[in-house]
Amino acid sequence: MPLPCCLAEKAILGSVGHERGCLRLPFVACPRPIKKRTAGFGIVSGIPLARIVVKFGGTSVANVERIRQAARHVKREVDAGHQVCVVVSAMSGKTNELVGWVSEASKLHDAREYDAVVASGEQVTAGLMAIVLAEMGVPSRSFAGWQVPIQTDDAHGAARIVGIDPARLESYLADGVVPVITGFQGISPRGRITTLGRGGSDTSAVAVAAAVKADRCDIYTDVDGVYTTDPRIVPKAQRLSKISFEEMLEMASLGAKVLMIRSVEMAMAHKVRLLVRSTFDDPDAPQLAPDGTPGVPGTLVCDEDEIVEKQIVSGVTLAKAEAKITLRDVKDRPGVAAAIFGALADEGIVVDMIVQNISDDGATTDITFTVPDSEYDKAVKTLENAGERIAYAKVSGSKGGAKISVIGVGMRSHAGVASSMFKALADKGINIQLITTSEIKTSVLIDEQYAELAVRALHTYYGLDKKDA
Ligand code: ASP
Ligand code: MG
Repeated sequence: MPLPCCLAEKAILGSVGHERGCLRLPFVACPRPIKKRTAGFGIVSGIPLARIVVKFGGTSVANVERIRQAARHVKREVDAGHQVCVVVSAMSGKTNELVGWVSEASKLHDAREYDAVVASGEQVTAGLMAIVLAEMGVPSRSFAGWQVPIQTDDAHGAARIVGIDPARLESYLADGVVPVITGFQGISPRGRITTLGRGGSDTSAVAVAAAVKADRCDIYTDVDGVYTTDPRIVPKAQRLSKISFEEMLEMASLGAKVLMIRSVEMAMAHKVRLLVRSTFDDPDAPQLAPDGTPGVPGTLVCDEDEIVEKQIVSGVTLAKAEAKITLRDVKDRPGVAAAIFGALADEGIVVDMIVQNISDDGATTDITFTVPDSEYDKAVKTLENAGERIAYAKVSGSKGGAKISVIGVGMRSHAGVASSMFKALADKGINIQLITTSEIKTSVLIDEQYAELAVRALHTYYGLDKKDA
């Protein structure tokens, strides 16, 4: 008789002997074997108790010394009475080395063996972390993805997590043991090791947090949070104490490379609160929020409802090397846009902003769009070759644009953000070439040489500059 998953024998790590339902349903937790907990920070006999998944990236576990520093962060949370699950990346540079070895072995390798090799980096850091924690007096046990198990599909090298059975993790947590789980990997329906695609351990951490219903998923990385803009361009950029999932998605896809986009999407879907914080902070220093008051250090990525003081604009982003392409006198009839962008998609060219004008005479119109500078030549050639199908008079364009965006959930309810953005740019004499908007974002394409000036001007204009800088 199969064991109910919650009671699965801890010792039989090799077998996946759980109740079937648990494996099928994504992130459906078994009834918790531990005391009832409230959402957020429950108070149990006067002690604040939370369940936290903490994830350490490659730089945080780059060597044994760093792993020890990371472990001290874990110990602090455990000592505070929290239940902690750890998810680790490989040591920085390790995965690249492993990928290199695979290609050296054979250019035409089997993707299943690629995964067997490149998943090994995380196994090393998980084991080392468990050893270091135990040495500090924190009971701990390492888990490879298949041991949890983290179920994925069988898209080797780019697998997606389809479900996590939390039973084994729950039972270790109930015993006061810290599970240390390998990020970036799982097990396929055929029982093979899979990897999630580069940078995938953020996603592993969010998935584990969803599965064990964690109060928070702390991402320890080499930056101390999410900023209103790139601090290298604007030294007055401020660290945000909170940002909504949607804003973070916009920031992430626009070049604020703090979190893998997929992990933010998953966090938003499962309402997993993410905290981005620095691994290099002294683990034993008082825990202070960005405003200097006692609290959680770093930036909390959370549901919009949790943000009391909503800014109209939360951030300004910049993406350089954007080329624009214009097709003139395109036939104004159904199927033309599909043909143009279909031809580009077939070539794997990612198109960003798209603007089509209304037709004056009902016969022809103009369409302008942007692609990365590096794809410009290929895109123009593709359109020339597809000329027959598309029927346009002329294609023209240029490289060297910059896309500047202002982002903020407050835009939904405040009129005039776009016009004030255009005014701020006009005051600096900056010409706008293209405009696109979404519910929480307004973007413009301008000449690359004014990019930094524009970002600084907008940052100041929307009151985002740090007061004391
Ligand atoms: N170690 C993997 C990589 O370098 C996964 C990760 O670090 O997120 O891509
Ligand atoms: Mg990484």
